Amino acid sequence: MLSYNVASLLRSVPGTERRYSVDDVTLDIAPDLRLAEPINGEVRLSRTGRSILAQAWLSTAIEGYCSRCLKLVVAPIDVKIEEEALPSIDIDTGQPINDGEPDALRLDGHHELDLGEPVREAISLAEPITLLCREECRGLCPTCGVDLNTVTDHSHSEDALDPRLAELAKWRDRAEPN
Ligand SMILES: [Zn+2]
Ligand SMILES: [Zn+2]
Repeated sequence: MLSYNVASLLRSVPGTERRYSVDDVTLDIAPDLRLAEPINGEVRLSRTGRSILAQAWLSTAIEGYCSRCLKLVVAPIDVKIEEEALPSIDIDTGQPINDGEPDALRLDGHHELDLGEPVREAISLAEPITLLCREECRGLCPTCGVDLNTVTDHSHSEDALDPRLAELAKWRDRAEPN
């Protein structure tokens, strides 16, 4: 999945393009990041002078917890990928290519382009830092932990305050008599 054989594309003239649709592909992203929906979208591979340019427009959704009320939420994610992949062996001679670019994305020895890793990376980066179940989520009560979305008019009397906070409140009242 997300792997494409580009041998014939490597033999075609620069500018040649191939399109593939991505339909319900599943992918393990990271131990702490699960996809809630399969990946869908389009991959476009084009022959450039020395490489294959891979572009992809993909949608999926991730699963996580609301940062305010800790409810499980599903967040849709769209990613765009643009990566240049260099051959590792010459398509005509079969000789290894030594172009001094060790960090480049590579086709394998059978001219297979595997987009799994770039897609994994793009989805990890697209993960929102703070997930919310909804914009106006009221979160949990900092004193007793009740979900404030499920109750109305929730409050605690002064006595229930953390004693250290109560001390601080008294001190503040003395300092500002008005
Ligand atoms: Zn929430
Ligand atoms: Zn409370």
